[in-house]
Amino acid sequence: MKLTKQIIFALIFGAIVGLVMNLYGENLFGYADQFVFTPLGTIFLNLIKMLVVPLVFFSLVLGTAGLGDPKKLGRIGLKTISFFLITTSIAIIFGIGLAYMLKPGTVGEFDLANAEFSAQEAPSMIDTLLNMIPTNPFQSFVEGNMLQIIVFSIFIGLALSYLGGKTKVVYRFVEQGNEIMMFLVNLVMKFAPLGTFGLIASAIGKQGFDAMRAMGLYMIVIVLTLILHLFITYGTSIFLFTKQNPLNVFKALLPAMGVAFSTSSSSATLPVSMNVAQNKLNVPKSISSFVQPLGATINMDGTAIMQGVATIFIAQIVGSDLSMGQLLAVVLTAVLASVGTASVPSAGLIMLAMVLQTVNLPVEGIALIIGIDRILDMARTAVNVTGDAVCAVIVSETEKAREERLNKKYNDDLYEQ
Ligand code: ASP
Repeated sequence: MKLTKQIIFALIFGAIVGLVMNLYGENLFGYADQFVFTPLGTIFLNLIKMLVVPLVFFSLVLGTAGLGDPKKLGRIGLKTISFFLITTSIAIIFGIGLAYMLKPGTVGEFDLANAEFSAQEAPSMIDTLLNMIPTNPFQSFVEGNMLQIIVFSIFIGLALSYLGGKTKVVYRFVEQGNEIMMFLVNLVMKFAPLGTFGLIASAIGKQGFDAMRAMGLYMIVIVLTLILHLFITYGTSIFLFTKQNPLNVFKALLPAMGVAFSTSSSSATLPVSMNVAQNKLNVPKSISSFVQPLGATINMDGTAIMQGVATIFIAQIVGSDLSMGQLLAVVLTAVLASVGTASVPSAGLIMLAMVLQTVNLPVEGIALIIGIDRILDMARTAVNVTGDAVCAVIVSETEKAREERLNKKYNDDLYEQ
């Protein structure tokens, strides 16, 4: 808890320092950013990113090898993907609903005529799926291609579990590799307070606050929806599926949320969020190391919320009334767009173009929100990461309950005989 408090303090202190410098000392901020904030932030970011690929590999191989039953892997996969898709759809519907209620696009002047934004080609869904199988796993490691690393690790884990005693040495190697990574995560986290301070001070200091004033209502709608989604969707699912108090789960996740908030990157947060899930929330390695890296890559409820709200916001600015069919198209494409969003800062904004194009809204609208997106990116990344961890907790608890049921049935049958 001590570290959690330090991170929260660093976030608040960093935000205040960045804000004060932004308002009163631009030159000073330039120097402070160059020599203090950015170096501190970069050291921390690099340190945790350094651990992502080996940690996911060791942990997932070990987890899959320990499962012992490929059917269980299938069941966990099905539960995970269903949770991801359902919660992401709920997130967008919340976002669209709130945007309709609070109408952020109708308050204030927005100059779309002078806005410029060129949309990049979004990767097609089929390509993303086909690319999951790596043709050269070493390249996947070098590029940090998470989906490919996941697929490769599962294969290795399955092989280890089938080959059993024959591959004892490799199994021990993976086990020890995982120990080393977990040790390093704890070590690197000691630097988290300084790192998050630097990242936040730098991000807030660079922020143009005039833009924020103009976009105030849009930002409020997104932040409100994120909070609603956190407490209603995640809170209710934790309670329903695990009977735990959601607040305890959120509290345990605070360090991960803090790191997500400051780095704006779900994948950079993985070492921390997996550590919390495995050590504080008792999620078995096999589940945490499968659900969380997969979630960091494809499950982004916070991003989906931004995409839903931004679409309605831009539609309101251009005075376009979306039909029910178009709204449904927004929900579907925003689910796909959030799945396709890379887990790095501001990636969600690029994929927003795909949603806007589907309902014929001008992609130039993105130019309006780009200025304040860094701040929102922090908040939505914290929700993205929370969603993945909540899914891991739910899958783990439902698996435990299933095992208990089966054991009880086995014992009862035995007793009857
Ligand atoms: N920064 C987000 C993440 O890493 C993605 C986005 O919405 O831009 O989860």
